[in-house]
Amino acid sequence: MHRYLVGGAVRDRLLKIDVYDRDWVVVGATPEELVQQGYVAVGKEFPVFLHPKTKEEHALARTERKVGAGYTGFECYFAPDVTLEEDLLRRDLTINAMAQDPDGTLIDPYRGQQDLNDRVLRHVSDAFIEDPLRVLRVARFAAKLNHLGFTIADETLALMRTIAQSGELAHLTPERVWQEWQKSLSTSDPQVFIEVLRECGALKVVLPELDQLFGVPQPEKWHPEIDTGVHTILVAKQAALLSDSLPVRFAAQVHDLGKGITPQSEWPSHKMHCHTGLKLIKALCERVRVPNEYRDLALMVCEQHSNIHRAAELRSETKLKILNKLDVWRKPERLNDILLCCMADSLGRTGYENYEYSQKGIFETAYQASLSVNVQDIIQDGFKGAAIREEMEKRRVEAIEKTK
Ligand code: ATP
Ligand code: MG
Repeated sequence: MHRYLVGGAVRDRLLKIDVYDRDWVVVGATPEELVQQGYVAVGKEFPVFLHPKTKEEHALARTERKVGAGYTGFECYFAPDVTLEEDLLRRDLTINAMAQDPDGTLIDPYRGQQDLNDRVLRHVSDAFIEDPLRVLRVARFAAKLNHLGFTIADETLALMRTIAQSGELAHLTPERVWQEWQKSLSTSDPQVFIEVLRECGALKVVLPELDQLFGVPQPEKWHPEIDTGVHTILVAKQAALLSDSLPVRFAAQVHDLGKGITPQSEWPSHKMHCHTGLKLIKALCERVRVPNEYRDLALMVCEQHSNIHRAAELRSETKLKILNKLDVWRKPERLNDILLCCMADSLGRTGYENYEYSQKGIFETAYQASLSVNVQDIIQDGFKGAAIREEMEKRRVEAIEKTK
């Protein structure tokens, strides 16, 4: 039996970028042989095993045949006679279909290295269309490798369009959609994930709430880019420049969903979007099974971003009310996250990329001033029960007022 390093580890090593996980393929073995050697079987649908020591994934070389709908509609064939080349043929992109044997020799039957050098994401074979997940994977790799100059081959994009039109994307499980979306959030260009899905017609199936922002106008005075979808892409990009936090990046992407359902008669104004966006975010997060940490931040940014943008005009009472709503007393790290989302929103407008977002400083100052109010002092001054809270609010407002 032979063991080869495959997939992302080979690709990323050639690109000289960090390798996070290593996947292996085993040729010429049976499941029984691997189990005898101490490997632990983990695959439900495919013959995948964990190495006894490293716990890295080892898959038996296999071929696949489409038999039903969606990601799981495959019949796979594995036996000691399946060759490495046959296994590599079922993979999604040529740059993911290279293997490396233990002495370091590259096995590259589908010209992955050439495409790596040319910075092209290209499908391995026409069997690409058999798995709709590949549309999301390619969009994610486009985001991950965008900074290196990678683009998608025209023929591959055409196949992605074919998949999007086939209706197969509807069979993807929410977990799969979220897994790829979340991975895209940790790349240096998360906005590319959305752009690629839109370009191939997959966005309206997978994330229609984002798709319907395209074509919706905003007031040109504030938004020279006008189109809400274009704005969202710019905000997503700015958020990734400002913060490594995935919930921050997510919240930035969905903060304007409400604008997608403003009645056309009100365009380009979107007076209610901070409110109407909330139910869209809730529904989206439920459908795609977005973790609560992401959802909660996104809801707060959606609800408060217009208020925060108006920081300079707000009364001290209002600033405190907003801080209370954000619950920054119990979750202090939240303030910075929300302010970064708002800043990304502001800088994510054509011509505003270097805008000095003074609103952030105003709220930070208000928060620090509020913190200077000490509850022990209030108790010592004789306040009791509910009056403590009331006095606390009063002193906080006074403290914020003094910072003006
Ligand atoms: P990374 O681990 O950096 O996200 P990767 O390319 O290693 O990227 P994995 O999901 O770990 O991605 O999969 C390992 C390899 O398995 C891929 O490189 C690819 O060759 C193959 N692969 C994974 N999922 C699919 C799929 N849906 N269709 C075709 N090939 C796939
Ligand atoms: Mg991998």
